[in-house]
Amino acid sequence: MLVDYKEKKKLKKNNSYYSKDKCEKKLYIESYGCQMNFSDSEIVASILKKDGYTTTTNFNEADLILINTCSIREKAEQTVRTRIKQFKKTKKQNSNLTIGILGCMAERLKEKFLEEEKLVDLVVGPDAYRDLPKLVKETHEGRKAVNVILSKEETYADINPVRLNSNGVTAFVSIMRGCDNMCSFCVVPFTRGRERSRNPESILNEVSKLNKLGFKEVTLLGQNVDSYLWFGGGPKKDIIKLSDEEHFNQIDFSLLLDKIAKQNPNMRIRFSTSNPQDMKDDVLCVIAKHENICNYIHLPVQSGSSKILNLMNRGYTREWYLNRINAINNHIPNCGLSSDFISGFCNETEEDHKLTLNLMETVKYHFGYMFQYSERPNTFAQRKFADNVPEKVKKRRLQEIIDLQQKHSLFRNKLSVDKKYAVLIEGISKKSSSEFFGRTTENTVVVFKKGYANIGDFVDVKINNCTSATLIGEII
Ligand code: SAM
Repeated sequence: MLVDYKEKKKLKKNNSYYSKDKCEKKLYIESYGCQMNFSDSEIVASILKKDGYTTTTNFNEADLILINTCSIREKAEQTVRTRIKQFKKTKKQNSNLTIGILGCMAERLKEKFLEEEKLVDLVVGPDAYRDLPKLVKETHEGRKAVNVILSKEETYADINPVRLNSNGVTAFVSIMRGCDNMCSFCVVPFTRGRERSRNPESILNEVSKLNKLGFKEVTLLGQNVDSYLWFGGGPKKDIIKLSDEEHFNQIDFSLLLDKIAKQNPNMRIRFSTSNPQDMKDDVLCVIAKHENICNYIHLPVQSGSSKILNLMNRGYTREWYLNRINAINNHIPNCGLSSDFISGFCNETEEDHKLTLNLMETVKYHFGYMFQYSERPNTFAQRKFADNVPEKVKKRRLQEIIDLQQKHSLFRNKLSVDKKYAVLIEGISKKSSSEFFGRTTENTVVVFKKGYANIGDFVDVKINNCTSATLIGEII
């Protein structure tokens, strides 16, 4: 409900503005890191909407500023610190403003940001978002508010996310939370807790709602979607306690994918992230079976050396990984493939690095996400291995990976020239307002003249040209 300006002013004067649920309170939320974080921000916006908050894209008019943080690499921490300092300047004009950090950095930075540096008023971890209305109120009463407790059950299954910065065409749907993989470099199991899957009925309902609203594509999200398993709720590790009957009734990722695709034949379905150690042929069969499940798999390899994969505790070898790539190519010919790579992990020799480049030559990914190793606190690698590849070497190896990936992306894109693709139009091209951009089923970006089409349409596009990042075409 809106209040008029005079009333708002009066309430502010009485210092009661923030205790009035009926007032229109403004939330500004900024997200960093993976798609999961962006999806979480939509859950947060939904929880706070029930408490009277509407979202704004202008932080100067916000009553509550939240930064949803990522702690995958060290640089992210610096970025957030700088941003908070900018927001704090606004506090000089609006002393009632609450600033909080959410997400993966919460646990680690609660003392530093809240108590020592007094940068924020509120710190909330990824499993405590339901507590936000109560915690925000505590800050209005002059207290610092914290909840970073990780849950074994929370999946926010019943929350209907507020779609932030939505194009009305594509949306994320979270299907699970946490991660049990314990890759030795990765902070996720510590920041997001144990792996648990979301009730499939609530997932199907959410996708169906999006479908009714006119959305044309969903991306199912999880740290390791191939490990999705519904057996009534709770942490995946508890599966050993199940009875035979409960085992019989469980729903795995291939079954979930099949149900979603069948229920929404007019929508495109994507998912991320697959993990090579868990990716089974049954998922590939389901993708091959349904026209509307996109022919695209993001399968992070991290390294092409079995020695390094072992040190990373990835649970697979180079040979296993290449076997999975063969299985993908056999079941889904011309499948779009992408990967994550880490350069300069502990003990990585020049030989190991060459094995990564060699694996890239073998697969020729359509695109890649490339990082240099960043030691993270409390991870197995930080506790047990020396971060012993010099910065200069990490950087040089990363550059070699980036250069090779660009070559392969261009190679893949050139193969698309003169071919025709079904493209879902997602929006107006950043470079030209007379052009649209969209994606092929393989997840490659295509730009083309608008013609008579609209955002959200599926159109057939003939590819005339390309760069390493984009296909350039025309509607036919
Ligand atoms: N769950 C996915 C997996 O394990 O394959 C992705 C997790 S993470 C959010 C995304 C990517 O960040 C990883 O695949 C990895 O390449 C990179 N990453 C994670 N920890 C890192 C670290 N300590 N240093 C550099 N890159 C890292």
